[in-house]
Amino acid sequence: MSIIRSLTLFATLLSINCPANAQTVPDFAQARDEAVKRLQEMIRIDTSNPPGNETKFAQYLKTLLDKEGVASEILEKEPGRGNLLARIKGNGSKKPLLLMGHADTVGVEKDKWTVPAFEGIIKDGYVYGRGAYDDKGGITSMLQVFLMLHRQKTPLDRDIIFLAEAGEEAGGGVGIDFLIEEHWPKIEAEFALNEGAEILMKDGKVRYVGVATAEKLVRRIKLTARGISGHGSMPRVDNPIVHLAAAVAKIGTYQPPLRFNDITRTFFERLAKVSPPEEAFIYSHLDDPIVGPMAQEKLRHTNTLYNSMLRTSIAPTMIKGGFRENVIPADAEVIVDVRALPDENMPAFIENLRRMIDDPAVEITPIGDHTTITPPSRIDTDLFRALEKAQITMFPGSVTLPMMLTGGTDSAPLRLKGVQAYGIDPVVSEEEIARMHGNDERVPIEGIGKFVEILYRAVVEVAGKH
Ligand SMILES: [Zn+2]
Repeated sequence: MSIIRSLTLFATLLSINCPANAQTVPDFAQARDEAVKRLQEMIRIDTSNPPGNETKFAQYLKTLLDKEGVASEILEKEPGRGNLLARIKGNGSKKPLLLMGHADTVGVEKDKWTVPAFEGIIKDGYVYGRGAYDDKGGITSMLQVFLMLHRQKTPLDRDIIFLAEAGEEAGGGVGIDFLIEEHWPKIEAEFALNEGAEILMKDGKVRYVGVATAEKLVRRIKLTARGISGHGSMPRVDNPIVHLAAAVAKIGTYQPPLRFNDITRTFFERLAKVSPPEEAFIYSHLDDPIVGPMAQEKLRHTNTLYNSMLRTSIAPTMIKGGFRENVIPADAEVIVDVRALPDENMPAFIENLRRMIDDPAVEITPIGDHTTITPPSRIDTDLFRALEKAQITMFPGSVTLPMMLTGGTDSAPLRLKGVQAYGIDPVVSEEEIARMHGNDERVPIEGIGKFVEILYRAVVEVAGKH
């Protein structure tokens, strides 16, 4: 009731403020069709990274924005790796909102696709192609909202910045890092909406609206075992392959202890409310002193994502040792992909692994930066509340779930700069999530439509003139 009342009040305010542009509810079906048509065009521009070729994509957007009368610019750190930026001005009473997505995609294994990967074909209500979900589906939806606000001349308290960035999938610093280092004033914002968590469709209705507010931290380590090389016909007790294998077996099966934070606690509490009884029981008993271990074990086998949200995770990913069949090598090494909870004490964590391995022949060294800690985005901000409000209006019976991602996005460097960044993706089922970065990537047409609508509602709420 109060929501309906405030929406009505808001609509009234808008029409009082700008009688010439009295706002009615936009035609979301038309917005969906427009966003989908543009998504098909975006998929036809191959931006597999490497090499990326995002400038071609940026030029496509620039031409389109020129036609709409919106100024934009392409910023390149390296030739061909263009980022596109455009801005609609507000009255400046609040700080800008950044709508962003990444233009590049991962590559494809062409022979494993059953449909063409770069044609943007439509089949059975889905748009198929590399990037359909990650992240051209996001870009087309953000752009749609941006254009709607521009065309309607919606009075705004904040500038809206649209960004299609380069180089997200393979790093290299040509995208968000370059923009932060060399063009910060052009993207500086209070809030950002970026890729991140799914709006999940299950059993024919939306179960939850996922909003990514934090990410686990990449804390890779290398294990090196050292011995003395020798002839394969005379086995040595210090064979580094044997020592390394024993160490990998110990830490590779180790489950670090469960530890909730505010985000994951809220996530599982709310998820339990919209889940079938059997699942709900697991989500609400994860740290129960009696049935907790059983619930955790069940999750470990049935949901690798949720299991990883609960703890610092350890995954050996690359192993190397030896160069000849008949030579015992002098060393062997393994790379371990550790994804830490944001508050993990890494020196203590590594010390614990060392004790567990209990072998002086095996050395552990950190890879890369283990010190930078990215703060989570808050869930008590105007933008988070605006997303929640849109979720309640559009998908009654569902919940908004703040999520801590187990992988990384470009929201992390923005959070380090103090931006409250939220990750949200189109409406999909588990099938589309499984195909992300895989074969026959796709997104439902209706999923784009609903995504445009929820973004539009939240953006108008948080940036519209009040
Ligand atoms: Zn992505």
